[in-house]
Amino acid sequence: MSTARFVFLGTGTSERVPRVTCLSKQPPDCAVCLDSRRPGSKNRRRNTSLLVQAEGHYGSRVNIVIDAGKSFYEACLDWFPEFGVTKLDAVVLTHAHADAVAGLDDLRDWTMSTRSSMPLYVRSEDLPMLSKTHFYLLDPSIKMSGGGVARLDVVEVGDEPFDVLGVRFVPLPVEHGHGFSTNGYRIGDVCYIPDVSAIPESTETLMDGCEVLVLDALRPGRTHGSHLTLEEAVDVARHLRPPRTLLTDMAHDIGHEPVNAELAKLKDSEGLDIQLAYDGLSFESEV
Ligand SMILES: [Zn+2]
Ligand SMILES: [Zn+2]
Repeated sequence: MSTARFVFLGTGTSERVPRVTCLSKQPPDCAVCLDSRRPGSKNRRRNTSLLVQAEGHYGSRVNIVIDAGKSFYEACLDWFPEFGVTKLDAVVLTHAHADAVAGLDDLRDWTMSTRSSMPLYVRSEDLPMLSKTHFYLLDPSIKMSGGGVARLDVVEVGDEPFDVLGVRFVPLPVEHGHGFSTNGYRIGDVCYIPDVSAIPESTETLMDGCEVLVLDALRPGRTHGSHLTLEEAVDVARHLRPPRTLLTDMAHDIGHEPVNAELAKLKDSEGLDIQLAYDGLSFESEV
């Protein structure tokens, strides 16, 4: 066992917060998007992504990122220097939606300057989609004019646990809308599930003993179909009762301070520790 650090590189839904249309409206009236422009605001949310800093093979410290979406570059600029990330060792994908993969092109920075290629862990069922959206990265025989591209070492993953440079990832398959699945991952006793509409019982079994649950909570009230609402996420925590739950993948319908204050009341009333994550939040756990 060793101590790993987990850093939220992003906690926002695909559109991110702020939304352009909220700020371009005259006059703008979305309090959350307006507040997100304030330096240090916890309402500014980039695409969901998690940095795992853990002990890998031979006692080395490795930096692994889960998902590289549309705001990957900006998130790295903000948080990599802050958390001492001088090298990136691998990227693991949950699924192939744009808010999880659109930043893969920017891996070229690392494969041109710090390493010859980047290991990329991808579910087998996501490869056909990725081969269309990122054909020039997945097929190095395709010659593009212009500069170089990121050099990826694609590793296909199935439902079985796999090892990323000495760090064990346990896939947590979940529903992400009707007829579509995505992976969450368990690393040590941390269960990270950023895109989910329903958790099958077989996956709940894999989450036994979870210490920190990170869970999708898109917005309050209106059901979405592909994501849990805030209320549904709280119900999952009620059901599984992990010692700590952090919510992510949030839209601009959720204001950090007031919603967190409401969630904090659940500690006294039901013994539930549920809080909203925010970009740059970090925590440690044994893995
Ligand atoms: Zn807004
Ligand atoms: Zn998605």
